[in-house]
Amino acid sequence: MPHRPYIVGNWKMNGVRAMLAEARAIDRAAARYPDVQVALAPPFTLIGTLREAVTAMGIGGQDCHAQAKGAHTGDVSAPMLVDTGADFVILGHSERRKDHAEGDALVQAKADAALSAGLGVIVCVGETLDERDAGKAVAVVAGQVDGSLPAGEGAGDAVAAGKVSVAYEPVWAIGTGRVAAVEDVVTMHAAIRERLLALYGEAGAKVRILYGGSVNAGNAAELLAAEGVGGALVGGASLTAEAFLPIVAAAGTGEA
Ligand code: PEP
Repeated sequence: MPHRPYIVGNWKMNGVRAMLAEARAIDRAAARYPDVQVALAPPFTLIGTLREAVTAMGIGGQDCHAQAKGAHTGDVSAPMLVDTGADFVILGHSERRKDHAEGDALVQAKADAALSAGLGVIVCVGETLDERDAGKAVAVVAGQVDGSLPAGEGAGDAVAAGKVSVAYEPVWAIGTGRVAAVEDVVTMHAAIRERLLALYGEAGAKVRILYGGSVNAGNAAELLAAEGVGGALVGGASLTAEAFLPIVAAAGTGEA
């Protein structure tokens, strides 16, 4: 892996203050793996609390609005995420694309807003099972990369500074226990890298491409060792330290 591996837990709509002990345990372990960048994206309600509770890992949001402020009841903006202590945000997760009808242009606007606010971004892309079965996986994901990655003023600098990551998450592998075959992951990551280089020139090499979709203690080492895999975006297995820490360990060598 050419980059420092990035292991990110996405708590989705899970987590109340009673789960702080898990976050603290994950943070203590993160400190023992300085060669791994570890982060958690809890629900909005826990970002500020987790920020105060942890020291070694990143804390991020799972979405933000494309506008900085205004009449958007129930939404949270990128500057608000910064204000509450987040350092990155996950955008375009397939659950948001499906549940909230988010398209590429909206995800891109959110990514530009997040970078403007100073956040790092993880932009999620991935094909459905129908699209894979139809032989369209590469075309669909390439289109999502072209349409969803930041394109505003400053995007190139943010990419060059390593503030932009992509998570390749085949929709059919998320929360299902089905994991993409390693050779398919390698193919998809190579296709994504090609688009990133086309979009950003040589700075596109700085974008970490994470795999996501039923990553767990049993499959993490093989996935993380695969060509072009720069880390993992982990849902279900990030909810407890017991499940998440073996994934962090698989990415790193631990304290020297
Ligand atoms: C995710 O939510 O991004 C994810 C990959 O979930 P899971 O690990 O549960 O499949």
